[in-house]
Amino acid sequence: MDHLKNIPNMDEILKHPEVAALIAQVRRDMVVSAARAVVAQLRAQLIKRPQTIPKTVMLEEVVKLIKTRISALTTGTLQEVVNGTGVVLHTNLGRAPLAESALEEIQGLAACYTNLELDLQSGERGSRYRHLEELLITLTGAEAALVVNNNAAAVLLGLNTMAAGREVIVSRGQLVEIGGAFRIPEVMKASGARLVEVGTTNKTYPGDFLEAIRPETALLFSAHTSNYRIVGFTREATLAEMVQAGRQAGLPVMHDLGSGVLFDLSPWGLKEEPTVQASINAGADVVTFSGDKLLGGPQAGIIVGKKTYIDAMKKNQLLRALRVDKLTIAALEGTLKTYLTAEPQLLVPVLRMLTVSAEELEQSSFRLCSQLQEAIGDHPQVVSIMTVALEDRVGGGAYPIHSLPGFGVEIAFKSRLETIARLLRESRPALLARIQDNCLLISVRTLRAGDLQQVAGLLQQTLHRLGMEDKTGAPEGLKER
Ligand SMILES: *Cc1c(COP(=O)(O)O)cnc(C)c1O
Repeated sequence: MDHLKNIPNMDEILKHPEVAALIAQVRRDMVVSAARAVVAQLRAQLIKRPQTIPKTVMLEEVVKLIKTRISALTTGTLQEVVNGTGVVLHTNLGRAPLAESALEEIQGLAACYTNLELDLQSGERGSRYRHLEELLITLTGAEAALVVNNNAAAVLLGLNTMAAGREVIVSRGQLVEIGGAFRIPEVMKASGARLVEVGTTNKTYPGDFLEAIRPETALLFSAHTSNYRIVGFTREATLAEMVQAGRQAGLPVMHDLGSGVLFDLSPWGLKEEPTVQASINAGADVVTFSGDKLLGGPQAGIIVGKKTYIDAMKKNQLLRALRVDKLTIAALEGTLKTYLTAEPQLLVPVLRMLTVSAEELEQSSFRLCSQLQEAIGDHPQVVSIMTVALEDRVGGGAYPIHSLPGFGVEIAFKSRLETIARLLRESRPALLARIQDNCLLISVRTLRAGDLQQVAGLLQQTLHRLGMEDKTGAPEGLKER
């Protein structure tokens, strides 16, 4: 056990100047337990792979590992990611980056008391749900509106309020799963409503709905098949046809839109996603959509529609568990206000990324390319750096078959592409890029204004770290991974 005798003891560790400096900043017991964990890990490694390491080397390594552990805690785990994927609404990257106006609203309200639930005129208790209602009514043409935690919650609340213990009719072509965890049949079950499937995967007619209607029927439900398309011989009852069937039988129709477009994107070629206004105009009684998909706001579920149904949802006990906080209301208010202007596509980052011209993207990719050439062009690992045309995506389950013509920079490396991609993900901020045909591909569409400079710097650091990893002096057993 000779190889274990050089492991520093707690006293030696805590006396190390860098550890002493750490204790001056954060709780001492936290540093002590980090030190214990690091020493235990080191012991285990040395027992598994015996080797004799000088005491000074061991101490420096222990200190480094303690600092890494503590900094992981103090810097937190949620961090900035530079999105070089070209996927505008990347669910793993938190969907929509917020608009300036949303930030201003949060900034102005987060640190103070607000009239969240106070009617300032009467001095009496008010409702948090009244804050966004007028804005949403104005923007969608609906009679009433309500905002909850996310769209899954909106659908759950709608179904529970309108159909618990009764039947809901849905086309088999719309029993979708979205985002991995949102499945219409499962949400239906959780809401207490009974699912009645009609039609087939590829064909459902209005008559199928009419035939399935019984005294137990409470609702006709339509889900926008956000993330897939059935092509070929297909027929789906349109929303208008469902509304007609519902009217005939005296039943309401609920439309789960998913993305919820408030601003018509068809002039930019994005025609497939229906607007909220169109659903309301088609006669849907209740329409639900996300706040953080194509709307470009914070995570939220927005419900608009007939006042009687929205009022009933406001009285549902479940709402208390699904309610939004003041930060969400502030961010959503800030985002929705931009839709009152003539050109929201210039103010909401998601809309801007979707409507930016090809020329502008090409110019940005030229700039990024020359910055990268300057920063890493002569690095021995780099084979080539060039501007390329590529295909971007809307993401977030919207426009599944629609690709956006984009531009970016392709970097070919001699080797170690996977390692380079990992080091880029591990840098601060992290950079997420695509890997395609053995190259790193960075799309400029999803880069924010300040990102262009950052990207070159991040690649430079990464190649430097790659060199360090290769010739790191630390013995194998002491390496973190
Ligand atoms: C995305 C989506 C949902 C879930 O919305 P969240 O805001 O992620 O909860 C539900 N229905 C449809 C059709 C969707 O596209």
